[in-house]
Amino acid sequence: MMIDYCYHTHTKRCGHARGEDEEYVLNAISNGIKVLGFSDHVMLPHISQNGIRGDFSLLEDYLSSINRLKEKYKEQIEILIGFECEYLEDFVPYYKDLLKSKKVDYLILGQHCRIDKDNNVEWYFSKDTPLANYTKYKEDLIKGMRSGLFKYVAHPDLFVPSIKGEFNEFFINMSKEICECAQECHIPLEINLNGHHYYRPYPSKEFFSVAKDYSIDFIVGVDAHTPNDFARLKEDWYLSFINEYNLSILPRLKMKEY
Ligand SMILES: [Zn+2]
Ligand SMILES: [Zn+2]
Repeated sequence: MMIDYCYHTHTKRCGHARGEDEEYVLNAISNGIKVLGFSDHVMLPHISQNGIRGDFSLLEDYLSSINRLKEKYKEQIEILIGFECEYLEDFVPYYKDLLKSKKVDYLILGQHCRIDKDNNVEWYFSKDTPLANYTKYKEDLIKGMRSGLFKYVAHPDLFVPSIKGEFNEFFINMSKEICECAQECHIPLEINLNGHHYYRPYPSKEFFSVAKDYSIDFIVGVDAHTPNDFARLKEDWYLSFINEYNLSILPRLKMKEY
């Protein structure tokens, strides 16, 4: 099996990724990628989060740069434009507008934080994560899956690196609820190649040993933050991981229907 796509790619606009957009395209081509989806951390109107996501004023630059590359490299690679978004109730109309106006081809769900009406950001996971935050994460993720706005769930197991003790009943049940919802909503879950360095890494063995028992499709995501991150697709460890849990990997995301 050879993964020849990536739908999870960031750009320097988010403030914690490096390189020019074109370098991502060139590296993707040289790593055998046929479909490259850009999905930078979504820029949100009236929200400023330096180093986390690009300012809203960068939206047009993002769209025009990727659209230019889409055209320039169309003979060599199919380029798609999207965003990685948190499910945030206040921004549902904005997300719908991005899709309806065809400014973007797709959105993926990456639930990193909550943002309240006063622009306060609440991160779910930290060095000392209260159990209640895992529940919040699970509930928000489920709302996001049910919204129908997203093509897949990025790093569903984002919560694993912050777990201190054992992956006990609480975490098993939480994983089950996430997977039940994914199965019911027919939404693919990502095997994310950007969490391998954590002491408690993702993709997580604990999470996927639960997920494997559901009829869910999976999708590999590089979560590229530098142009040469696509070289990860040539590593063996994640293919062994996929084989170990016998996960069914989608050859492509279906882009037609929304
Ligand atoms: Zn990022
Ligand atoms: Zn993410």
